[in-house]
Amino acid sequence: MANIVILGAGYGGMATAVALERSGQPFTLINKHEYHYFTTLLHEPAGGRNTFDEYSVPLREVLRRPSSEILKATVQELRPQDSKVITNQGELPYDYLVIALGNAPEYFGIPGMQENALVLRSLDTARQLHEHIEKTFASWHEDQDDAKLRVLIGGAGLTGIELCGELAEWLPELAAQYNLPLDKIQLINLEAAPSILPMLDEGLREEAQRVLESKGVQLRTGTAIVKVNPNQVELKSGETLDAKTIVWTGGVRANPLIKEAGFEVDPKGRAKVNEFCQSVNFENVFVIGDSAWFTGEDGKPLPPTGQAAEQMGNRVAENLQAIESGLPMQPFHFNNLGTLASLGHEVGVGSVKGVRTKGVPAALMKEGSKAKYLWHLGGLRMLSQKRGQFKRKG
Ligand SMILES: Cc1cc2nc3c(=O)[nH]c(=O)nc-3n(C[C@H](O)[C@H](O)[C@H](O)COP(=O)(O)OP(=O)(O)OC[C@H]3O[C@@H](n4cnc5c(N)ncnc54)[C@H](O)[C@@H]3O)c2cc1C
Repeated sequence: MANIVILGAGYGGMATAVALERSGQPFTLINKHEYHYFTTLLHEPAGGRNTFDEYSVPLREVLRRPSSEILKATVQELRPQDSKVITNQGELPYDYLVIALGNAPEYFGIPGMQENALVLRSLDTARQLHEHIEKTFASWHEDQDDAKLRVLIGGAGLTGIELCGELAEWLPELAAQYNLPLDKIQLINLEAAPSILPMLDEGLREEAQRVLESKGVQLRTGTAIVKVNPNQVELKSGETLDAKTIVWTGGVRANPLIKEAGFEVDPKGRAKVNEFCQSVNFENVFVIGDSAWFTGEDGKPLPPTGQAAEQMGNRVAENLQAIESGLPMQPFHFNNLGTLASLGHEVGVGSVKGVRTKGVPAALMKEGSKAKYLWHLGGLRMLSQKRGQFKRKG
């Protein structure tokens, strides 16, 4: 059987691994951590909902067959010319490689952003952000510096808006816990584009704005950040805002290892793939999820989403089995299931398979999509284990 190596255990890598395991095909999955985390929900524990343990699952609990090898290692270099991967645990040869290494923040060259802003992209960064806010708020009594109670979120896409929704509920709780002046707490979202959540229609965007503003969030669209200093943001208008918490959610690009390896890439560093999600440069390499530059049926590059990563992972697993059986590969078609944005614990907005939804039903649909994902990973066992945790502490 072919030696298949999968890089990254996010949505794309896990989908490939789960499907291969179910088909009885052995593989090696390389990931930085021994667990898979739920990236699309990271705003929840970052903003104080539930505990961090509930947002990850050990890889061995999902991939239980001994023939599925799991290697906890950090990929340091891709050598597609030699069909090898270099990790901090040594080098690995492969017959077929699946690259699912996710993304890195896109800072758009804004000076000081990388050095001075926090990000939300992994379980570790979510925990870091959570602890930073709590520590900063808790220390306000020491010097009564109001910048400690101001939180700036750059970017009003899904990540930035969902994070605002969680923080709008958690920050007042912190105020009560640490006896802080509620009127001094400011949660400000800064977005260069003219509107929030560009993937939703205007009515849903307005609804999201109304809900967040009613929770005290200041949404400043058409407001470009031009520089970030330690604890200070400079705006294009010349205004400066002092804040001890600055978070950047304004964009992502592919993992830099891809460009460094010599793949043909788009301006976001994603490797160009054909209709089978196969690299156009190396036919034994498949690239999926946020790492892939896949041109959709509308002629535009597919935006980076968890649902696209998962669907690509499933298709690549099928294509690897087809290769193994001497059958033709099948092209990938993205099935857009829609977008749901939570706006705190109880309400949300979105559109699912073309049907618009808002308020409590949207939040319930988001909960439903979590359950569906857990079911896919590990059936009833996984669902009852994780849902039990969410229910007890949520
Ligand atoms: C807060 C938030 C909310 C979101 N909400 C939604 C949503 O509602 N709907 C939606 O469709 N999308 C959403 N997204 C986007 C979605 O999470 C990503 O598009 C998706 O995770 C991409 O999947 P992936 O498999 O390409 O990469 P990832 O899921 O990021 O997985 C990459 C994996 O590779 C590992 N890795 C990275 N580098 C290395 C290395 N050098 N060595 C070893 N391992 C490595 C990482 O640890 C990780 O496990 C959201 C993102 C965030 C941050």
